[in-house]
Amino acid sequence: MKRRDLIKNLSILPASKVLLGSAIPIGAMMTACTPAVVKRDLINELGIRKIINAVGTVTFMTGSLMHDEVIDTIVTSSQDFVILDEVQDKVGVKIAELCHAEAAMVSAGCWSAMILGTAGVLTGLDAKKSEQLPFLDGMKSEVITQKSHNQGYIHALKNTGVKIIEVETAEELAAAVNEKTAMMWFLNYCTADGKIKHEEWVALGKKFNIPTMIDMAADVPPVENLWRFNDMGFDLVCVSGGKAMRGPQSAGILMGKKDLIAAARFNAPPRGGNIGRGMKVNKEEILGMYIALEKYVNTDHVKEWKMWEERIAFIDNSVKKVTSVTTEVTVPPFANHTPNLKISWDVNKVKLTSKDLQEKMRGRTPSIEIMGGSGNNVAVSVFMLKPDQVKIVADRLYEELSKASV
Ligand SMILES: *Cc1c(COP(=O)(O)O)cnc(C)c1O
Repeated sequence: MKRRDLIKNLSILPASKVLLGSAIPIGAMMTACTPAVVKRDLINELGIRKIINAVGTVTFMTGSLMHDEVIDTIVTSSQDFVILDEVQDKVGVKIAELCHAEAAMVSAGCWSAMILGTAGVLTGLDAKKSEQLPFLDGMKSEVITQKSHNQGYIHALKNTGVKIIEVETAEELAAAVNEKTAMMWFLNYCTADGKIKHEEWVALGKKFNIPTMIDMAADVPPVENLWRFNDMGFDLVCVSGGKAMRGPQSAGILMGKKDLIAAARFNAPPRGGNIGRGMKVNKEEILGMYIALEKYVNTDHVKEWKMWEERIAFIDNSVKKVTSVTTEVTVPPFANHTPNLKISWDVNKVKLTSKDLQEKMRGRTPSIEIMGGSGNNVAVSVFMLKPDQVKIVADRLYEELSKASV
């Protein structure tokens, strides 16, 4: 039946007739809404390798596993239509409250938070400017960053057409500021490498009346970072949702000054004809992101850290039973700030390169991914392991290391 005819029929038939007598079998109408009885496991069905992730929250291994509460939220919210902007409005208020920001929005990851934030700084609520991006005639066009912060992630900003200006000192920054300067960008994980630290960066931004943005994508834990940079006075703060927070992998948060968040949203869906149109976040993920954040803020982080240490100790005990194996617990000061176990061995006693060990761990089912090292060492992260996977990783590492022992 053609759609036109169907609509005509629906409008003239009484309700009971529509259900029972229409061309659509009632069973088909029901199954469209009821979940399938047979659960399919597409990862197995399509022969995709399932991984035990002892590496951490890396994009190429699909980041993190969403919390059950996030999945529940996604499933439940998927059953109804709503107005997309209303979802962002309501969620934005909640996120802003949790993170001490004036306003917030859910973006398609930290990367998109950075694009939209920059776009908002450039265009404000000017529709013509928004349509014009990434061509910046008549707009500001430069973003200042420290030389050591000028890493690949800054490409997000370049999507808007801006040019990156590198400086190393406050004096150089003062000299670089001009009427084209749109923003000052800080990359949190490079804090130690730059001469100018957070507070001074913010103070310089205020002094020259230039908005400041910080990329802290992978910088929870510690949880306090979620509000620390807002409290400090950064105008825009960008964070990933699908890393430690275990929200949707394709979600993130942009938070900061009210007018700048409004301008960022102005460049984003549901509005079109702008550079943000391809960075759509569906209602399910917006809500899922909020639930992940709420859960993360309410997590007992001391307890969680202790749990990671126990996992590390368990694996440590196992591998150290192999002659010549030594270990070290390392915690990156920035980005994925969680304990890792570095495992080293004497290549004369254990005949393995780190690459060999990685391949052996990967080659069996369940396949295990670990971090490679240089020559005679590897590292494991326990951050993304499920509880029952800790022993599997420990046993398999012991097995391969002892098998290669001479
Ligand atoms: C992961 C990461 C990003 C990108 O974040 P997505 O949420 O994947 O878009 C940006 N900057 C840094 C420093 C990151 O680690």
